[in-house]
Amino acid sequence: MEEVWHPSERWSEAERRAWQDARLREVAAAAAPHAPALRERLAAAGLDPQALGLDALTRLPVLSKDTLPAAQRASPPFAGWLGVPLARLARAYRSPGPIYDPEGLEPDYWRFAPALFAAGFRAGDVALNTLSYHLTPAGHMFDDALRAIGCPVVPSGPGNTDAQVQILGELGVSGFVGTPSFLVTLLDAARSAGVRHGLRRAFVIAEMLPESLRRRLEADFGITATQGYGTADLGSVAYECGVRAGMHLARETILEVLDPHTGQPVAPGQPGEAVVTALNPVYPLLRFGTGDLVTMAEGACPCGRTAPRIARVVGRIGEAVKVRGLFVHPAEVARIVAQFPEVARAQVVVRRPGEVDEMTVRVELRPGAAAPEAPALREALATGLRLRCDVELLAAGTLGDDAKRIVDERRWD
Ligand SMILES: [Zn+2]
Repeated sequence: MEEVWHPSERWSEAERRAWQDARLREVAAAAAPHAPALRERLAAAGLDPQALGLDALTRLPVLSKDTLPAAQRASPPFAGWLGVPLARLARAYRSPGPIYDPEGLEPDYWRFAPALFAAGFRAGDVALNTLSYHLTPAGHMFDDALRAIGCPVVPSGPGNTDAQVQILGELGVSGFVGTPSFLVTLLDAARSAGVRHGLRRAFVIAEMLPESLRRRLEADFGITATQGYGTADLGSVAYECGVRAGMHLARETILEVLDPHTGQPVAPGQPGEAVVTALNPVYPLLRFGTGDLVTMAEGACPCGRTAPRIARVVGRIGEAVKVRGLFVHPAEVARIVAQFPEVARAQVVVRRPGEVDEMTVRVELRPGAAAPEAPALREALATGLRLRCDVELLAAGTLGDDAKRIVDERRWD
């Protein structure tokens, strides 16, 4: 069993549900007097803030993230969702979209301390925070969490690699917070500059962390990389533990994984949109459709944390296609073919010659590489995507760098 930041991380399912159910009413009741959008949404569904519970939640429509910029323009700055007076904020941000994001006064408002603790950050560890402190909340999100744990923070922000390499060597930095790509840039730069440093752990966010990269960080640099999932609207949604096989939901996250077309929960293991209700009285977004496609992990986690786990954030909804009723995301296909070192890239072609969708994955080989066993590749794709498909092996250079990752040749007239 791993050490945890808070005992609630080991609650039983019944304890978590009871806490979330009661907390949902508290949040709605506290925020309703200040948040007209919350009041209107509840009233339209015939719900009283005092009567809101987990079971009643699904009577509310999903609030799509895509609609938030326009809603905020129509009713600035927070589209009627701010649950406290504006004067009671610590900070306010403007993220790309553009979307305004509020930050309340609570210590560790974004609730990332449990995530960083699970990633191995402990009091006294000097942390380099390379996320932006400028206009978007990412920098302060982790700054606040690191200070809640007791880690001195170097607020370096992104870029300025040479200076950051020097800081690594001279300030005793042992922890990194930022994107996986900047972590690699920094480590490569430190190595070529011959700088010795004590960086051992990293919490990465905002980009996919491929398993191949995680292994490379471990093998080449001795760095343990742990990832989390959150947004500027919601703060921490889920985070990995020391087992690193899925991200446990944060206590304040009520997650539904829904088919974006039907609005119904997907079957276990299938990708669906992450729809999150944040138990946050400052910004009580109810059934917030993130636009991210996720899959859930099955089974208990040996770390001792009991919250359900997001297996993977597969990608954005707009980039995926539905084949025989199931989502196929180009990033998921790329992740699967990356297990075969002979493969350079893949392209998915979807056709519908009759009444049934057919999918072919065109796989381009690296120059000089021998073809992998087509049945093994087909099997890996079928298992990973839960869909049968054909595999077409192509010589190096056939598709090229600019090839579309999904070609949908179906016509729906
Ligand atoms: Zn775990």
